[in-house]
This record gives sequence, C-alpha cells and structure tokens, in this order.
Amino acid sequence: MRRKGLPREDVLSSIQSSREKDVPWTRVLNSICTRPHPLAAEVFQEGLDTNLGDVRIFRGTHELERRAVALMGALLGKESCAGSLVSGGTEANLLALYVARKLATQRRGGLSGPPEVIAAETVHYSVQKIFDLLGITPRIAPVDARLRMDVKAAEALVNERTIALIGTAGTSEFGSVDPIEELSRLAVERDLYLHVDAATGGFIIPFARELGRPLPRFDFSLPGVASITMDPHKYGLVNVPAGAIFFRDPALQSLISLESFFARTPTHRTFLGTRPGGAALATYAVLEHLGWDGFLEATRTNYDNMAYLVERLEARGHSLRVPPELNIVIVDLPAAVQVMELLEQWDWIISISKRYSDCLRLVVNAHVTRPVIDAFVEALDGAMAELGLASCGTD
Ligand SMILES: *Cc1c(COP(=O)(O)O)cnc(C)c1O
Repeated sequence: MRRKGLPREDVLSSIQSSREKDVPWTRVLNSICTRPHPLAAEVFQEGLDTNLGDVRIFRGTHELERRAVALMGALLGKESCAGSLVSGGTEANLLALYVARKLATQRRGGLSGPPEVIAAETVHYSVQKIFDLLGITPRIAPVDARLRMDVKAAEALVNERTIALIGTAGTSEFGSVDPIEELSRLAVERDLYLHVDAATGGFIIPFARELGRPLPRFDFSLPGVASITMDPHKYGLVNVPAGAIFFRDPALQSLISLESFFARTPTHRTFLGTRPGGAALATYAVLEHLGWDGFLEATRTNYDNMAYLVERLEARGHSLRVPPELNIVIVDLPAAVQVMELLEQWDWIISISKRYSDCLRLVVNAHVTRPVIDAFVEALDGAMAELGLASCGTD
C-alpha cells in the first residue's frame, strides 16, 4: 500500500483505463448474467451502507428482504415459504445441502457412513464444491439425448446413505430442464429430500410456461420439492450479488441456525455473516417494478431474439445440437475452439461446453438484442472465413 494516497482523479482514471479492457455487454454471448436493470443499479447504490448481518440496525431493509422472499415464493407456488436472499446460486445450493444433511442426521440419529447425494452429470459445478465441503459422496446419474436427468437411473442409485436428490431446472451449460415432476414423485415415494437448482431457470420457466413453452413444473406445487435455488442476478435482471434460497417448510430453514456472540440477536440463516442489503433492496425493487407482466415481456423478448439468432444461423447452414429449452443455443461448428479464440481476439465472448467441444454455446439474455445478433453473425462469418472454414451459405 502507498504511504501517501493518490488523488481521487488518478485513482478514477486508472480504474477507467482498466475497465475499458472489460468487454462491453453488447459483445457478450456466453453469460447468464446481464447488464442490471437501471432501477437495480440505483437502489443498490442507495443501499450501499446496509448490512443484513445486523437486522437490529437494518430493520427496514430486512422487512424488504422478507417481502422480496414472499414475492419470489409466490412465483414458486408458495408465498409462505421460508427463504433468504444470499450471495448467489453457490451459497443457496450450499445451504440446501447443509439442511438436507442435518435433517438426515437428526432423523437417523447420526449417519453411519459418508452421506450420498444423487445428481445428474450436468449438475452445476458449484455442487461439486459443496460435496467436497460437506463430505458428501456424489452419485451421478446419466442424462438422456435431450440432456435431462435419467430418473430411472437415478432411482437405481438410491440406498440407505442417500440424503438428497438434486434436479436442475435450467442447466447453465445447456439450459436443459430435468424432469422435476418425476423427481418429485421419486422423492415422495422414497421419502427423500429433493432440492431443485433453478438458479438459471427460476426467472424463466414460470413465464415461458405462460407463453406456451413445453416446460415442466419445478416448484413448490410439486409435493416432493423441499428447497429451491433461484438467482435474481441471472435472468432476474438484478446486479451481482443476488441469489436466493427457499424452503417449503420454515422448520427446514431453522436447521440453519448460526448464532452470533451477542445476546438477543437473531440467528443467522445464511452462510455469509455481513451481507449486502443493497442486493436485497435491488431485488425487491426490480420485482415490484417489473411485476409479472414485465418479466413475461422480458422472457418473450429473449425467446423471440433466440428464434431470430437460430434462424440466422440455420440460414447459413449451421445446425443445433439439441433443441433449446431455455435461452441457450448449442450450435454444431467445426473447429469451434479456434473460432471461439479468434472471436475473443476481436472482443466477442462466447463459450464452448467441454461436453460438446465441437459446438458453440450462445446465451441470449436481455442485452442480446437483434442488432447485437446481426453484428455477432457477421463476426462469426468473418471468423469462419479467416480460418478458411466453409461457411455453408448466407441469408
Ligand atoms: C449460476 C448457477 C449456479 C451458481 O450460482 P452462482 O450465482 O454463480 O454462485 C448454480 N447452479 C446453476 C444451475 C447455475 O446456473
């Protein structure tokens, strides 16, 4: 650290010159996060001094966190569910599996060996971190050709050490949605804890279903679902860090009880202690401001733009590896890695799933508008030409 601090202008200009290296959102087609809604930015800034780790001070902010939880709970079919706003999907998944492990320990009077959790091979990598942290042995079920969990195979993995099943409602890799209705049936039949990771799909599926998309239910309307992860900082249009965890039953949430040193202070029910109230305020603001219709329109726009992207790619002879369920497109492409690298040199960010290293993965979110798509398709043509790859046609 410098002994004498720099003038404000110097600090700001060095930040500015580094931030200029950040790729603008209008050239980003790999991210399930997006430029936050302007109201989120405003409210987050206004709430910078808040800390939800101390709700005796931030009573009003806490009240709005409760309201945001109820609003999202209603979206998930249970306004009265218990929940918290957290730092993201990783923390939400951690809290869910922490609860599942505690519940199993209590019910069984201790665990005889390492607990097991059943998940599909497409489960988010955050869950791998959590398995490590909690000493859980993963039991991995395969996926079918549409990249959805094979529930029959999952069922065959159930044994006396199983403490939970995880289904993903919108994988971040492909946007595929596991058969949560079947998983719920299995959870009820075998009396298992079912956690649904809807970090990506939570703000898409309810609206997409209303738009007539053939997507399954994934929420508390299914009796087997014990907890749900949902990320406002993805398709919820809120800034980072805004995640959320929901429990069907407050008794489940109360298994997370982290006491502080101090008398008469509330129990912490999140992993973070000091935590940003601004993100809770921003989440509340966007939910109230957009309302159901606002999210419905945002979802419609994303699907329309995705259809436009697919149409332009198909007109060039590209084909999709799987039909997209949410707003993620997987495109067959020879030399995909080289194309991605060249595009990155040109400041276009796309990604490739390791599972399909011969495909591009393109994510459509609010910032991916038609002009962005047009510019991207042009850049893709350019990259193919530069690499001497046959472009099969033009539209
Ligand atoms: C993004 C994501 C996560 C992890 O969430 P973070 O907010 O990055 O911590 C977990 N699961 C799924 C399905 C996701 O899309």
